Amino acid sequence: MDRTVNAVAVTPGVAHSIHLYRAPLPPLGPGDVLVRPRQVGVCGTDREIIEAGFGAAPAGETSLVLGHEVLGEVEAVGAAVTSLRPGDLVSATVRRPDGCPACLAGQPDMCQWLQYDERGILRAHGFMAEHFVEAEAYLVPVPASLAETGVLLEPLSVVEKAYRQASLTQRRITSWSARTAVVLGAGPIGLLQTMLLRERGAEVWTLARSAAPTDASRVVEACGARYVSTADQTVSALAATLPPIDLIVEATGVSSLVAECMAALGANGVLVLLSITGQNAMTSVPLDAINRSFVLGNKVMIGSVNSAHEDFSSGVARLARFETLWPGLTASLITRRLAGLDHAAEAIAERSGIKTVVEFPG
Ligand code: BGC
Repeated sequence: MDRTVNAVAVTPGVAHSIHLYRAPLPPLGPGDVLVRPRQVGVCGTDREIIEAGFGAAPAGETSLVLGHEVLGEVEAVGAAVTSLRPGDLVSATVRRPDGCPACLAGQPDMCQWLQYDERGILRAHGFMAEHFVEAEAYLVPVPASLAETGVLLEPLSVVEKAYRQASLTQRRITSWSARTAVVLGAGPIGLLQTMLLRERGAEVWTLARSAAPTDASRVVEACGARYVSTADQTVSALAATLPPIDLIVEATGVSSLVAECMAALGANGVLVLLSITGQNAMTSVPLDAINRSFVLGNKVMIGSVNSAHEDFSSGVARLARFETLWPGLTASLITRRLAGLDHAAEAIAERSGIKTVVEFPG
């Protein structure tokens, strides 16, 4: 049997080197699953890899297969696989462990040595291929009822983790709940975070650059959150009109907003940073005042990256609840669908809309 598959790859470090690639398909071990992708989502990280700002090929290869947001169908399972059968739908976690204590304890998303691999990003091929092989442990079953939105599980898992981290952190305060929340950014992460917080019962204000109406502002309003354009109101000006802000999630990619968020956060509040900022911006901030407000207000700021298997599983339940609360809204985040590997380059280059997904014919 031919042990290679057609895939979409880049040469990491070489800008705009996207190409079709015959990628190696590893043998199916006893604990492995052969998956045929149905849909692969495209995100900002893929664009950064294309622009040679990020990414690394697996050892011994010069190409890296892209794609880390997948919904696929199981085609075959190894002899020891117990939880999946051919025909099942799955998503897959992204990060693979190194030997650090956190990874050994089963939390590669909390890796300490930062030598992890990430499928489609760092040293491990991604999912934008005709088939891929993955260990059962890294796959997440997705019910057939979520076939339309399951490709959003990976970005959703990132915001599931953000919320879980905030909630774990806030167990330090007996009376805390996210009543008043602000989300910065209205890309897929900001919008999914907005929906999650609305589903949890928070009053949510979502800030983004563009003036409403946009695809994103419509999603924000449809789930009962408030959309604010930063052209009309800054974070500080908005904060002055709100009750104390319990939770701020920063997902814009603009680090200069962080200091403003730190100042705007209410007493006992938590600020979660999700942006992997690519530049080396320098800025001066009123650090005395910010520090004082953090100390006197018992505030916390946490960074959160990637996600755990449990965040994918809670995401599966959440997608079902989104559907009950707001039928069709989650699917409306997918604003562009392109068929086939041949269109992948186009899909990745295009920046309009909310989420672009590459679809693979069945
Ligand atoms: C992915 C994460 C990953 C991060 C850093 C993000 O786009 O969603 O899973 O850890 O990039 O590589």
